Amino acid sequence: MTNKKTLTMDKIVSLCKRRGFVFPGSEIYGGMANSWDYGPYGTELKNNIAKTWWKTFVQKRDDMIGLDSAIITNPKVWVASGHVAGFNDPLVDCKKCKIRHRGDKLLEGKIGVEETTKIKLEEIGAKMNELKIPCPDCGAVDWTDARKFNLLFETQIGVLADAKNIAYLRGETAQGIFINFKNILNTMRPKIPFGIAQVGKAFRNEITPGNFIFRTREFEQMEIEYFIEPPKKEKDWRGPFENWQNEIKRFFKEDLGLSDENMRWRRHDDNERSFYSKDTYDVEYNFPSLGWGELHGFAYRTDYDLSQHIKHSGADLTYVDEKGNKYVPHCIEPSFGLTRTLLAVLAEVYMEETIKDTNGKEEVRTVMKFKPELAPIKIAVFPLVKNKPELVAKARETYESLKPFYMCEFDDNGNIGKRYRRQDEIGTPYCITVDYDTLEKGDVTVRDRDTMKQDRVKIEELKSYFADKGLTIC
Ligand code: ATP
Repeated sequence: MTNKKTLTMDKIVSLCKRRGFVFPGSEIYGGMANSWDYGPYGTELKNNIAKTWWKTFVQKRDDMIGLDSAIITNPKVWVASGHVAGFNDPLVDCKKCKIRHRGDKLLEGKIGVEETTKIKLEEIGAKMNELKIPCPDCGAVDWTDARKFNLLFETQIGVLADAKNIAYLRGETAQGIFINFKNILNTMRPKIPFGIAQVGKAFRNEITPGNFIFRTREFEQMEIEYFIEPPKKEKDWRGPFENWQNEIKRFFKEDLGLSDENMRWRRHDDNERSFYSKDTYDVEYNFPSLGWGELHGFAYRTDYDLSQHIKHSGADLTYVDEKGNKYVPHCIEPSFGLTRTLLAVLAEVYMEETIKDTNGKEEVRTVMKFKPELAPIKIAVFPLVKNKPELVAKARETYESLKPFYMCEFDDNGNIGKRYRRQDEIGTPYCITVDYDTLEKGDVTVRDRDTMKQDRVKIEELKSYFADKGLTIC
């Protein structure tokens, strides 16, 4: 059976490349550090995670609305949000090899997050020297003082490179929600409490990207801003805050299959929490090779964001309730990283199992035990052999009959054993084999990925067989 303790990031990276989940970026040009392209199965998996998220948090709820805002916005948005002045990481240089690092992350590795948050920017370099934290690249202990490094990704608009033309690629999807608040009120007339959700790319000029797709400069987020009436008492915001916590816990566990033992909720203390937030958590996942790392950010942000945009834009972003009360709503923000969640799902479902082959010889099979809803391919269809036209034709016919309802794949390469191994690594829950008996009796073998048990099923009963198994049409 799998030993999760021996699962390394390298194994995941290798499977992702080998099986078409994630490829190194710009490979034919010698690569581009820390850039990744999603291959056919990675794209399916990412879309399935985003679809599940959308279904849970938008489609199934009456109090949620979707949005898709622009990546490049008026730069004033990022001044108002505080990102231009405050979206900084502490950058330290190793004096020996000149490579730059995030001082806070290296300190966190030595003394933990809570102690690190107590250290001021100007003390970081000295503290790293005092604690003898070695440079991860050359091993020297010789750090400069830390300086602020802004993470916003600058770009130029138009043909002339000029300070006036500077814009930013969005550093988070959330600001697109706040700047559309008035549009949503005017068009949708939602009643408070309600939320706005969006999924999309975000960009950050990270000092130390790495750990595969955990930290990249271009990534995807799934964010929600949930607006509530300004609370009179703590219980007024604590209630919806806790409801969201429960929903998020349920989503990670039941919809994505992430186990409790790999997840923890870490509350920010007063040093770490933003001054405007009343309560903030990082939901962390125990990633292979990396250990606990943030998967999700969850905060009650008061009325900070809307108030900032009111101040900077002059727009009226107030809400008027049925009794005529006018106010600036407060908001709760659940912020998910789509690409980081995909990494957590890959780590969670990666299994190595020792099994016996048909001759009784032991072998190790790698199998990705995705929840069927997330699996890139739901059903693979094989002819027993590729050189018998009647078998190939029957297998194709079976494949064509299922394709409109499920993401299917037809495979006639190599022998059956190899095809099973490949589908196990892709995480396909069911494989159908069309054999000689099929031609006589009209039934096929359906093999279950997890139990490896095989059932004989009539071709015309396949759809109801999969429906009974709970496989949803998609
Ligand atoms: P970190 O502490 O890891 O830098 P953060 O606290 O800056 O993360 P948030 O601003 O709260 O992250 O963003 C919300 C979510 O977006 C994170 O929980 C994470 O899942 C995702 N995310 C943030 N930065 C990156 C990145 N560089 N690469 C991939 N995902 C990211």
